[in-house]
Amino acid sequence: MLDSQGRLIDYLRISLTDRCNLRCAYCMPKEGLPLISHHDILRYEEILKITRCISNLGIENIKLTGGEPLVRKGVLDFSRELLKIPGIKNISMTSNGILIPENKDKLKNSGIDSINISLDTLNSVKYAEITRGGELAKVLDAIEVCLDLGIAVKLNCVAICGFNDDEICSIAHLAKDKDLQVRFIELMPMGSAEGYKYLSAEHILSAIKVRYGRLSDHKKREGHGPAVYYKPAGFVGSIGIIHAVSRCFCSSCNRVRLTSDGFLKLCLHYDTGVDLKSLVRAQTPDDELTEVMRKYIYDKPRQHSFSSENKRNDIECKGMSQIGG
Ligand code: SAM
Ligand code: SF4
Repeated sequence: MLDSQGRLIDYLRISLTDRCNLRCAYCMPKEGLPLISHHDILRYEEILKITRCISNLGIENIKLTGGEPLVRKGVLDFSRELLKIPGIKNISMTSNGILIPENKDKLKNSGIDSINISLDTLNSVKYAEITRGGELAKVLDAIEVCLDLGIAVKLNCVAICGFNDDEICSIAHLAKDKDLQVRFIELMPMGSAEGYKYLSAEHILSAIKVRYGRLSDHKKREGHGPAVYYKPAGFVGSIGIIHAVSRCFCSSCNRVRLTSDGFLKLCLHYDTGVDLKSLVRAQTPDDELTEVMRKYIYDKPRQHSFSSENKRNDIECKGMSQIGG
């Protein structure tokens, strides 16, 4: 459907859980965050009902996220159920990768055709430090597992001043001989990220240009998201840049989010939306639920205000793992 700004909204990010097996320093405090009670987490059949209804509004693409989606039991069977919903064309996932190798067989039949794997450093000591205990080897193995299964891989690297600014080119180099996309994301000033300094897309691009030469001729858009992609000469894969902060891509935003406790969230940066869990648990009929969602999606905020001085009073104060980043 089109929202009031004329944007085509066809993409839903479903957060399956606020739990995670890592504690990335810019995402969560060391001790974790207060957890949503199991009673308040949407059950799979409730998510299926919401997805059925929202698909009537033209949502075609779904991304499973969290917290870490693979810590939720049954997720790789659930993804198949989602794909059976008429109108849903593809299911992808965002994962830290740690549990991918041990789920290889299930992943094969999950219907998931693309996985974003988070990888902020290629140094195992720094990886353990930023994730507070994660094992880099498992993530590197996860990449091979996905490529083996024919699942498209996007590596998401959050660029942070003083942490991985010296590794931009070595991380980008992963796309040289492998058919995958390495995407650099500007750190957004949310939750635990407040203490970290973001590295601008401009800085990332100039580091890549110094190493690989001019990139502008290869500029193109791919997939459903806001990344701009570049293919340096001789690369099998490509490099993506997501100007999450320095440039406003909100005029082409195509997405809404369902949090794990059933809130339809219209923009990452604001807490506006509607509590669908209460409506679902009150046995609201499908057509009514669809109309509620239509009304809220129509009023999706025009743009975020990450770099604006004029802060609104509905700024999101939850962290990425609670929202479903
Ligand atoms: N646990 C999964 C993972 O790490 O991919 C899925 C959820 S995680 C919240 C989704 C993505 O959000 C990860 O790539 C993570 O690096 C990114 N992220 C978390 N906090 C962020 C922030 N403040 N700014 C930009 N990206 C962030
Ligand atoms: Fe967990 Fe992903 Fe947040 Fe890291 S970024 S703590 S893996 S939810």
